[in-house]
Amino acid sequence: MTQARVDLRVFAQYGRDFEEHADVVVVGSGPGGAVVAKELTDAGARVVLVEEGPPFTPADYTLEGGRSMARTLREGGLRHTTGTVMPTLQAIALGGGSLVNSAICHRAPDFALDGWCEAFALAHTTRADLDPHYDAVGGYLGIAATPEAVQGPRNLLFKRGCEALGYHCEPTLRNVRGCRGSGECFSGCRSRAKQSTDITYVADALRGGACVLSSARVECVEVDGRRARGVAGRIVAPFTGRPSHRFRVHARLVVLAAGCMATPVLLLRSGNLANGSGQVGRNLQFHPGVAVMGVFPEAVHPGFGATQGYQSCQFLREGFKLETLWAPPALLAMRMPGSGRALKRRFEDIPRAAIWDAIGTCHASLGRVLPRRGSLDPRLAWRLDPGDLALLVRAISVLTEIFFAAGARSVLPGLHGIDAEIRSLDQARRLLARTFAPGDLVLGGNHAFCTTRMHGDPARGVVDELGRCHDFDNLYIADSGVFPRCPSVNPMWTLMALARRTAQAIATEL
Ligand SMILES: Cc1cc2nc3c(=O)[nH]c(=O)nc-3n(C[C@H](O)[C@H](O)[C@H](O)COP(=O)(O)OP(=O)(O)OC[C@H]3O[C@@H](n4cnc5c(N)ncnc54)[C@H](O)[C@@H]3O)c2cc1C
Ligand code: SF4
Repeated sequence: MTQARVDLRVFAQYGRDFEEHADVVVVGSGPGGAVVAKELTDAGARVVLVEEGPPFTPADYTLEGGRSMARTLREGGLRHTTGTVMPTLQAIALGGGSLVNSAICHRAPDFALDGWCEAFALAHTTRADLDPHYDAVGGYLGIAATPEAVQGPRNLLFKRGCEALGYHCEPTLRNVRGCRGSGECFSGCRSRAKQSTDITYVADALRGGACVLSSARVECVEVDGRRARGVAGRIVAPFTGRPSHRFRVHARLVVLAAGCMATPVLLLRSGNLANGSGQVGRNLQFHPGVAVMGVFPEAVHPGFGATQGYQSCQFLREGFKLETLWAPPALLAMRMPGSGRALKRRFEDIPRAAIWDAIGTCHASLGRVLPRRGSLDPRLAWRLDPGDLALLVRAISVLTEIFFAAGARSVLPGLHGIDAEIRSLDQARRLLARTFAPGDLVLGGNHAFCTTRMHGDPARGVVDELGRCHDFDNLYIADSGVFPRCPSVNPMWTLMALARRTAQAIATEL
């Protein structure tokens, strides 16, 4: 039997400038772009998928946090907002964020979808509209509840604490097959259990005949009146970004899925495209996250167990979701109080420690993506609203309560200006009652949205419900920038459901 040629091009294979022709060119291979590329390949379209990052194999993953971040994340993992300073990790890899994320899958709750429809003049983004797409993505990726066998004490202590307080909690649903509970999701799954898009949607698109250009950075979208004609850019060396050969992809239809920080920059730099509403780059929202560490009398071995295996949605309507968490020690060190010997002593507690986090629904905390001179990296302005700040402090206090209910000996709340270590619930209540400033919180914001938001009114949004730019006939966006508002829960599954719907709409036009 002859095997079809798989057309995945890597940096070493590019020897000269070149041009390609496609029905559809898709920019970005994260959860949004990968779904579109596979679905349209299945529909018979000639697809070229362009990704700036290189492909990774399990042998390329390193557990050393700093080195891993330098290779898989934009700006070496040091990207951050200004205004309120908050790190935001964004991937540069075949598979985008799905390569480094924790694989948590969560359907947007009814109240979030209802709110989208009501506030953004959307008629077809209801539970009933999106559920068939969630179902299809869930079946394809094997999304299922994390089994008890791979939870590990870090996750099960969270369950114990929630149950003691009567808080609802459950194992997270994740897109994994055969997870071993190694807790390594952030630096790449060496067991290939995580169903990241590089080994699922992109691999199937390739098998179906798509061409994938990796290490290829799109620098410009080419248009003619209301029609996009294709994209142009440079081949870039992995990890250094050094540009070499030029390429151009001519296409009947263009889909931008470069992520909610890169797509607006591409549009603005290509001549302020799709910006009749003036909303390109605006409305930047995050789910800002806070993390709390608890130290137990007994061994926890926090490195073992699914990276984020348990969650509680008890406080979702109030504005925050609680989760268990693990990350490489280099990353944890940034969130720990003290330095030098004091920090070293804290590290001695790690074998008896668990880390849990909260992500906030922070609609009032808004920002903007702006182009940076001479670079495709964005400038990110964002400010934490005082009401959202109070919400996050409340989330820290609930996590602290759960830690003590689970039997923790002490809790490190990760808040500047108060004792670094809290030894009782009474002490926690006293310390957390004061007013905090944004700079007192150790924040992280890896879920980002809304910079090319969906709106039924072309004067107030960049794309329509199907992801098509209001100002163009054949230019679509399929990354988390299209969310009209943050979804209150982990966004990947919703993004993939929306991207699948976009692909189906495109297929009818080809
Ligand atoms: C550490 C971490 C943990 C997370 N955990 C979860 C989780 O458990 N569950 C969940 O639901 N969400 C999680 N998220 C968020 C989730 O991964 C993102 O929301 C999702 O990846 C966004 O998908 P996207 O397709 O919009 O963009 P991305 O995943 O960012 O993909 C965009 C792709 O486009 C490429 N690109 C950018 N510019 C160009 C260009 N000019 N030319 C060519 N290619 C370009 C990028 O390299 C990237 O590969 C996590 C994120 C991080 C960072
Ligand atoms: S916990 Fe380990 S085995 Fe499971 S998906 Fe994450 S990295 Fe892979």
